[in-house]
Amino acid sequence: MAVEAHNLHLFSSQHLLRSRFQLLITIWNQPSLHTMQMGFLSPVSGAAAAPGSVLGFNNVASAAVLAPRKRLRQVSLLGDDMSSHLQQQVLDIDRLILQHAERARAELTERRKRFTTQILAALEEGMSKRLRASQEEVARLGKMNWALEERIKSLCVENQMWRDMAQSNEATANALRANLEQFLAAQARAEEEAATADDAESCCCVGDGEEEAGVRREWRRACRSCHDGEPSVLLLPCRHLCLCAACGPAVDACPVCQCSKSGSVCINMS
Ligand SMILES: [Zn+2]
Ligand SMILES: [Zn+2]
Repeated sequence: MAVEAHNLHLFSSQHLLRSRFQLLITIWNQPSLHTMQMGFLSPVSGAAAAPGSVLGFNNVASAAVLAPRKRLRQVSLLGDDMSSHLQQQVLDIDRLILQHAERARAELTERRKRFTTQILAALEEGMSKRLRASQEEVARLGKMNWALEERIKSLCVENQMWRDMAQSNEATANALRANLEQFLAAQARAEEEAATADDAESCCCVGDGEEEAGVRREWRRACRSCHDGEPSVLLLPCRHLCLCAACGPAVDACPVCQCSKSGSVCINMS
């Protein structure tokens, strides 16, 4: 803005200077003033005082002046020289004005280019910062995604492991249940046989009856923890049926073999 103001001031001053030169040329070409400045011409009439060319001035001068013709010719030549000189000055001033205007335009164009370049550089820097931030965010999200995928894979593996373990425990429980059913069936048969033997009062069968009664007492022995409740909890993996329903969840190791408990199965004795 300062440059534009300076250029405007320069243009206005140059325009004023050129106007003054043109006014000076007009005044110089005016016959009345010219004759007054020369100092040897008498005042002219109203018709002769109107603005006119140098040729008109010469005509008026030749009609009114009483001086010799040689001197009049010198004055005319002097006026022509001054007029041409002033015209040359005006042309020089116009050329200078054009040069200044061209220089100011070039400088303005250069400043505009620099300003545009600075704006573009600032915009580019801001966009590059945003781009870097976006790339860092994308990289961070990618790492987080990778970590989550790894976590999902680990959980899938763990899930499969737990599923296999559950299937194994289920198979073990089924096998134990089948064994227990077989054992209970054998016990029932033994009780029936013992009853039959008691009825027959056979000497050879007394020993078997006592053995079956011992098995029943062994089976119905009390809980190994509280020595009160009926054993109904089967411990894994040792498969000892030695705890009642109240003591089963409370212990961490089998009271018979001291094996660490990994699971338990409640046995329905009815
Ligand atoms: Zn108990
Ligand atoms: Zn045990």
